[in-house]
Amino acid sequence: MSTLNNPNLIYESPATILQHLIRFNTTNPPGDEADCIAYIEELLHQAGIETTIVAKENDRPNLIARIKGSGAAPPLLLYGHVDVVGVDKQVWSHDPFGGEIHDGYIWGRGSLDMKGGIAMMVSAFLRAHGERTHLQGDIILAIVSDEEAGGDLGASFLVDNYAKYFEGVEYAIGEFGGFSFQVSGRSFYPIMVAEKQVCWLRATLRSEGGHGSLGQQNGCMAQLGKLLQSLNSAKLPIHATPAATYMIESMAAALPAIAGMVLRGLLHPSRTDLILKLLGDKGKLFQPLLRNTVSATVVRGGEKINVHPSEIIVELDGRLLPGFTSEQFIAELRKHIIQDDVELEVIRYEPIPAKPNMGMFKLLSDVLTEADGAAIPVPMLLPGGTDARHFARLGIQTYGFLPMRLPEDINFSALIHAADERVPVTAIDFGAQAIFRVLERYGKA
Ligand SMILES: [Zn+2]
Repeated sequence: MSTLNNPNLIYESPATILQHLIRFNTTNPPGDEADCIAYIEELLHQAGIETTIVAKENDRPNLIARIKGSGAAPPLLLYGHVDVVGVDKQVWSHDPFGGEIHDGYIWGRGSLDMKGGIAMMVSAFLRAHGERTHLQGDIILAIVSDEEAGGDLGASFLVDNYAKYFEGVEYAIGEFGGFSFQVSGRSFYPIMVAEKQVCWLRATLRSEGGHGSLGQQNGCMAQLGKLLQSLNSAKLPIHATPAATYMIESMAAALPAIAGMVLRGLLHPSRTDLILKLLGDKGKLFQPLLRNTVSATVVRGGEKINVHPSEIIVELDGRLLPGFTSEQFIAELRKHIIQDDVELEVIRYEPIPAKPNMGMFKLLSDVLTEADGAAIPVPMLLPGGTDARHFARLGIQTYGFLPMRLPEDINFSALIHAADERVPVTAIDFGAQAIFRVLERYGKA
């Protein structure tokens, strides 16, 4: 607990806020985020901040709040999701919904993804309000439901129906990034500036059906076999997009000369695959950042043991580098993997611009290097997806920036969505402080 300028207002520490947030079981599905969001709403109301709740479904609300700046800079958006993934069949050392502190860590589902980040944002937001920080732009806080299931009731719903609350916003702070990550003794802090685009496809294979007793060659079962084999063995071409180039160039510049040279080689398509192989396990991190990928994840077809199916559907999880269109992707698939007789249909495509807007990157880097003298902030392209893709539809550039200085001996990425997810108490304080510094300095020359 700390008291700020106004002695009547007592703020919860970010760590305490996080403990409370973890205790609301917001496993999605079903989500049930209402109580968790009501808790945040109550914290804001106690501080005298007005809130707006909008919901597509009543028990899946989204909260928006705003504090005023001078108007010298456009509004800045802070956003995060309170839903979490489940803990099914996972064995935990401490109650995943207990928010307990042991050995300096806050344990629980969502401590990293991303209730820890929400605790930082809410606490920095309350502090800026409580200390009457001189802000250049309004600060908008959006706490949303449903990110883990695609955001249809959360960020996507807000963007489609309540864009008016985000008018004029150019930049946003969200997940995923800002944590320390050791490579060759260097403390990199990757800040997400772009993510890959979702492009889900439905492939349909057709052939004549018929009675199982009559036998069949080259029917859709055989085509299915061919398709799955080719998806497994073929690789799509390498592309050095701006986001991956920023990321690899900045990491290379901070590494010893030879290591830097090897890393830069990734950006030359004729050498990429060889270097990926040389990098071994580390190569696996870079591989999806340099090409579009496609994975067969669902197969539907065949109903009766004595009937040849006349149709088989295969769902393909396509992930595109920023800026690629679904047409370009399908053309690549046709050329390298998928035969012409397979019908392909786009079932979901969520575009991300080819080139991230790096306008706020320097401020975020400066805040990190001031907080940790050894920090090397680097831009990051994320292979997965976040709510950033929805806000991108409003032209908003998200930076994944939930700063955490993390101990070297634990692989934190491996704890996300996994058992024993936990975060050092000190990392949450570090992040809350860093985000507050960003609010303070945003828009000042
Ligand atoms: Zn998340």
